[in-house]
Amino acid sequence: MQYSFQIYQRSFQQPLQTHHGLWSIRQGLIVSLADDSGHIGRGEIAPLAWFGSETWEQAYHFCQHLRQQLTQSQILSVPDDYPACQFGFGTAWEALTQNLVSTPAPPDICGLLPTGIQALSAASHLWEQGYRTFKWKIGVDAPEHEQSLFRQLMAALPQQALIRLDANGGLTHKAAQGWLQLCDLVADHRTIEYLEQPLPPNQFSDMLLLSQQFETPLALDESVATLSQLQQCYRQGWKGIFVIKPAICGYPDRLRQFCQTHPIDAVFSSVFESDIGRQACLKLAAELSNPRRAIGFGVRHWLSPDE
Ligand code: MG
Repeated sequence: MQYSFQIYQRSFQQPLQTHHGLWSIRQGLIVSLADDSGHIGRGEIAPLAWFGSETWEQAYHFCQHLRQQLTQSQILSVPDDYPACQFGFGTAWEALTQNLVSTPAPPDICGLLPTGIQALSAASHLWEQGYRTFKWKIGVDAPEHEQSLFRQLMAALPQQALIRLDANGGLTHKAAQGWLQLCDLVADHRTIEYLEQPLPPNQFSDMLLLSQQFETPLALDESVATLSQLQQCYRQGWKGIFVIKPAICGYPDRLRQFCQTHPIDAVFSSVFESDIGRQACLKLAAELSNPRRAIGFGVRHWLSPDE
């Protein structure tokens, strides 16, 4: 198998603010595998180090040190601490070796809103474009301020809109309780789909407790960045939602095998891949994501166009 790779870089149209900080450039790599007949399979490596994957630099060095001729076993034995590389090589391999069969249409897509007051105008804009599920990041400002904006957002969005809140692990236990009380309260007349990752991954048992104390469902995201973390949270009794970012979750066939053999409520979600990674993720999402929930791929409006 002839192997090559290239690097890419794309800017965010405006930096994305989360509890982890500001994110303004998406860097990644595209790997190409070519067989003797000239067929080519491509895959994308889109690391997200602050989420627990390898760094871009590690992925780059890994790609740089491979020979130009690779065997199947080399392609399928990328180490587990390089999950974004596993995904890139695994999807390139699948693209090369599997016939493209038609897959079911992916579920609806959830649109990502900007943090702060800009969410209000962005929400009406996305609503006009057909989005009905929205994600809003919290945990970046004082809870009182964010909760007042949240009430404004609720009032501004049409009744049918579904809202997901994502704290990126940035709340204290007390703030998480405050948010869940508020969500339970507004649930009489609004649909709050879930609160995502209220506490950091090392507070798993607290999140498990919160998930039993309130009506509003909880989702794990940072806690389940890799397949082994996903398996561990499942074994520890998580009954809520699992947000799965396939592009940093390792080899796609291993993820497929886990999701097909365990009845989890999975919501597939983007790490701001470019088109090659996105297509591979959407294919997996159509197979494995809970079809009753919107997938987290409504992020295209955040990035400059593919170059
Ligand atoms: Mg999240």
